[in-house]
Amino acid sequence: MPKAAAAARYMLAYLAWPLVFFSGLTGAYFGFASGHPMVAFAATYASAVLLLFLLERIIPYEEGWLQPDGETANDIAHTVLTKGLVELAALAGVIFPMLAAALLQPLAAMQFSLWPSSWPMLFQAGLAVVIAEFGLYWAHRIAHERLFFWRFHALHHSVTRLWVVNTGRFHVVDSLFKIALSQIPLYLLGAPLQVFWWLGAVTAFIGILTHCNVDMRTGLFDLVFSTPRLHRWHHSKDLREGNTNYGENVVLFDQLFGTYFNPDRPSSTDIGIKGQIAPGFVRQLAQPFTKDGVRQILGRHPKRG
Ligand SMILES: [Zn+2]
Ligand SMILES: [Zn+2]
Repeated sequence: MPKAAAAARYMLAYLAWPLVFFSGLTGAYFGFASGHPMVAFAATYASAVLLLFLLERIIPYEEGWLQPDGETANDIAHTVLTKGLVELAALAGVIFPMLAAALLQPLAAMQFSLWPSSWPMLFQAGLAVVIAEFGLYWAHRIAHERLFFWRFHALHHSVTRLWVVNTGRFHVVDSLFKIALSQIPLYLLGAPLQVFWWLGAVTAFIGILTHCNVDMRTGLFDLVFSTPRLHRWHHSKDLREGNTNYGENVVLFDQLFGTYFNPDRPSSTDIGIKGQIAPGFVRQLAQPFTKDGVRQILGRHPKRG
């Protein structure tokens, strides 16, 4: 590679992560202040996805992951279903405290004053990310450590390539479990709607970054945020590497509870699970609900006869 091209590639590798994350949040900031916050946010998000899609072709982390795996349509279908239901759950969550507030006025007034609404939004959003992360961390860790929950989470780990499109490949039950554990504490504390928007923005941009197949150098960011490098270890087939880095946005609780993993070598490209995931979107949704389906997911032989 000519020297100038090598230097440009090196710079891009260091700039890519902060560029996507911070310009995404800047876009969200102006979007939320505009007359059409959701449309503006969706446009920012789509631009970030497109940019990562291009970067995956310019500086891929693993060339082999550019090849199709036959799961693209399923990845998109799971993403759309999960996102749709999460939106509905969020709406219900916003409406419910309002109803509760109207019905139980004195009690609600006391309870809802717990949230520090007078803080600058940056600090409120930071607090929300940490509070939500506690639920996200445990929901994710339980999904790996308890077979009952693994049956739903295995779908996410069944992929053999990581790229920007399979970020949102979650079984809908897996997603709802995560949302419940992470967002209910915020509703109970009375966090305002804007705080949920910001939490959603941080989760969206960190999320598409974790799966992107871009050769990014994240350096010190690895100590705080869930970066592509840390998340690739999390997808490793070797469970000593894989049962680590559960953080969704920040890795604070991995650091606290001893599951942080970031050895000084290139992160794993040998990813996937031992079991088998059914072919096709509807069968993938149904698989954790049948005995044979669960056996397949766990990599056990189906019962004969
Ligand atoms: Zn996982
Ligand atoms: Zn993942």
